[in-house]
Amino acid sequence: MTEAKGYDIHIGLEVHAQLNTETKVFCACKNSFGAPINAQCCPVCMGLPGALPVLNQKAVEKAVFMGLALNCQINLVSHMDRKNYFYPDLPKAYQISQFDRPLCEKGWLPLLCGGKEKRIGIERIHLEEDAGKLTHSDQTGKTIVDFNRCGVPLIEIVTAPDLSSSDEAKAFLDTIKRTLQFLELSDCKMEEGALRCDVNVSLTPCGSQTLGTRVEMKNVNTFSGAVRAIEFEIKRQVHILTQGGTVTQETRRWDDQKGISILLRTKEEAADYRFFPEPDLGQIVLEKESVEHLKKSLPELPAQKFMRFVDTFGFSEKEANALLDSQGKCALLEETAALGECSPKSIGNWILGDVSRKLKEGESEEILLRRLTPVRLSQLISLTEKGTISSTAGKKVFALLLQEDKDPQELVEKYGLQQISDENLLRQVVQTVLAQQEKSVLDYQNGKKNALGFLVGQCMRETKGKGNPEMISRLLLEALNHPESTGRLPKML
Ligand code: ADP
Ligand code: MG
Ligand code: ZN
Repeated sequence: MTEAKGYDIHIGLEVHAQLNTETKVFCACKNSFGAPINAQCCPVCMGLPGALPVLNQKAVEKAVFMGLALNCQINLVSHMDRKNYFYPDLPKAYQISQFDRPLCEKGWLPLLCGGKEKRIGIERIHLEEDAGKLTHSDQTGKTIVDFNRCGVPLIEIVTAPDLSSSDEAKAFLDTIKRTLQFLELSDCKMEEGALRCDVNVSLTPCGSQTLGTRVEMKNVNTFSGAVRAIEFEIKRQVHILTQGGTVTQETRRWDDQKGISILLRTKEEAADYRFFPEPDLGQIVLEKESVEHLKKSLPELPAQKFMRFVDTFGFSEKEANALLDSQGKCALLEETAALGECSPKSIGNWILGDVSRKLKEGESEEILLRRLTPVRLSQLISLTEKGTISSTAGKKVFALLLQEDKDPQELVEKYGLQQISDENLLRQVVQTVLAQQEKSVLDYQNGKKNALGFLVGQCMRETKGKGNPEMISRLLLEALNHPESTGRLPKML
């Protein structure tokens, strides 16, 4: 993470998220990705003369739901505005957006990052329509104009410049993405452009009460790209400032492949969008009761879950992130913990360890979660924690469970995987092995302490892998260190 010695860093993000409504925001065209070029457009979203927009109520509800999740005030009366500019991906030559009265304002998101708890201000969330998509081909020198994306509902979430590192920005973006997914507002497929952001960065001398000049970076399509863009910009500004220069307010384009940003325009040439209220749509009036109702239906949110996983369950921030990145894993943890048989930490360790490994190896998450039910996971962990099976056998049971779709207990019996924890029996095994392995015993007596590992291994072999290794190790040590206490001396002593 880049530090800027002597400077405070201020970062503000503008996050665009496509909403997953059935239809587009102002027409009845389907809102889905991947259709043939220009197969999903109509006179409204192509801006043909005389076509009139009709606002999609579901899009408004989804935007408000996100606003409530981010502790925003909801404007019961708001309206859409025209943002005028010309670009080939915008057939109407204006975008219907919200300007002076957005749906949601003045919210905040609690963030836990690097052990510090912080509230990130949300300036506003507004509803707008997406533009079309241009695909340039260097080979043919032509550009394909696809209007399918025109009119796809977007929300823009604008933060206050409260973030102070790329790590915090990443944590913020992760939390926003999870929130959109948990609330089923957006599928957040970044590779399809469903989630994009602009990044604003400024520096001021440490402790300064005012903000520095901001530089905005556009075209940031991945979270890792956002981190790299921020780091790049911090370094660029530190370089300018330490040379005695001043940062100029400008908009730059992030080129993720090259890892650099390029000047697009300076403030002087900034576009004048000539905003005015959209005359073809009336005011958006929300009922207080329905907003209250939506607010009450909010579940526990990823930001709170994150804090609970760290503070109450005792996971590290990294572990909590890994758990929260998958709704499936998260639900498995919570539902297994709710059974009250094992600690959330030991459940989490299984999920982050063996379960994640299986998924990485290509196991289908759907099948895995269907077979590894909370009851089964709980049983599996209990069996290992009680010592009924060894941790090695636990891994075996887990693999078998996925193959055979059976309960752990059943599998332990079927395959005879019970661990031998009978002390008398194991003591006999230890004595047999010590009698057979004179050389290792001597090695141990002569200070080669790693001979113990070999002896444990021999005992495990003797028990066909079923001996309790901790117990064997303890009994071996007892016998080696106090041979008299075993009642029988190893024969060479
Ligand atoms: P625009 O549409 O011109 O980008 P917005 O007000 O929509 O303006 O967005 C401004 C974004 O820039 C916000 O995320 C805000 O937090 C951020 N920002 C504003 N001033 C600064 C600053 N001095 N340093 C860093 N970020 C800033
Ligand atoms: Mg902006
Ligand atoms: Zn349409």
